[in-house]
Amino acid sequence: MSKFWSNLAKQATPYVPGEQIDDEEILKLNTNENPYAPSSYVLEAISQELGGNLRLYPSPTVDQLREVMGEYYQLEKECIFVGNGSDEVLALSFMAFFNPGQMIRFPNITYSFYPVYAQQFQIPYEEVPIKDDFTLNPIDFYESEGGVIFPNPNAPTSLALPIEEVENIVKNNPNNVVIIDEAYVDFAKQTAVPLIKKYPNILIVQTTSKSRSLAGLRVGYALGNPNLIQALNRMKDSFNSYTMDRLAIAGAIASFQDDLTIKENVTKIINTRKWVTEALRELGFQVLPSETNFIFATHPKYLAKTLYERLKQAKILTRHFPNPLISHYLRVSIGTNQEMEQFLNQLQEIM
Ligand code: PMP
Repeated sequence: MSKFWSNLAKQATPYVPGEQIDDEEILKLNTNENPYAPSSYVLEAISQELGGNLRLYPSPTVDQLREVMGEYYQLEKECIFVGNGSDEVLALSFMAFFNPGQMIRFPNITYSFYPVYAQQFQIPYEEVPIKDDFTLNPIDFYESEGGVIFPNPNAPTSLALPIEEVENIVKNNPNNVVIIDEAYVDFAKQTAVPLIKKYPNILIVQTTSKSRSLAGLRVGYALGNPNLIQALNRMKDSFNSYTMDRLAIAGAIASFQDDLTIKENVTKIINTRKWVTEALRELGFQVLPSETNFIFATHPKYLAKTLYERLKQAKILTRHFPNPLISHYLRVSIGTNQEMEQFLNQLQEIM
């Protein structure tokens, strides 16, 4: 069989996602989903679409959604590109803006999809070491050869780089695109969106999977200068795929029209994050000051792997990473107050 495979298919390193277990009894705190369901307004919009228009193709230009998003972000729709989840938007961005033969940079502790895409598209990359306190040193990202990408807030550390430093990185890469992956930004203090009007080389990628509770619908998007958005459209059109489906478009439109519910859920998650952080510190954990919907914590006496395994035996899924630089850290998504009490009670039993 293998002789029919292309070199790319043979060499590509598969991405290992967080465990997805379809067991109602499992408490899933491992892939940073939102514990709250989408609002009835969003569900109603999806079911209306289901009842009516599914026999019709969706709009290839997704104009209506981009207009609603444009109002939300105070941007022209020409500054907005939408795709099936931000992973897809990131893949298209790697293809559109990074070149084989030109070294791109991203932090050595970051979203594990970046090296996978770089390898798939044969883009050389430099993994820039982050500091001992897990923050990025902005200067290390200045004047890259082929571009820069990093999440802000970073994953899995949960830490955000101040926006002035993001701006310095963008400013100091005038000939390259700087991609800021803002998957978790709604749980953070600041977004880099205002920089779009100032700099033609910043591309911001966001998602409806986290703050908007729509991970299952697969809607991600890029915000940036119209020239960058045109390049993404060219990539998309040349493959004649990557088309969003009607249910996803309808749900996303309703979500951007129903921002109050989103803000309420985000506030609840931030409040839960606060007391869980304090509770973990009382148990002796060091917890990084999170600006996301998850926390990254380490304990001087207990191995993260052991805690992960013992929690899993009790049907609570968390995440730990094999990378030795962070293998002593446990990553835990923020659930409802009740779910986090269950998690903390179980942790206390283990310790
Ligand atoms: N970027 C980061 C930093 C993430 O953690 C994730 C989710 N794991 C994504 C992008 C992708 O999110 P989605 O494809 O659901 O939009």
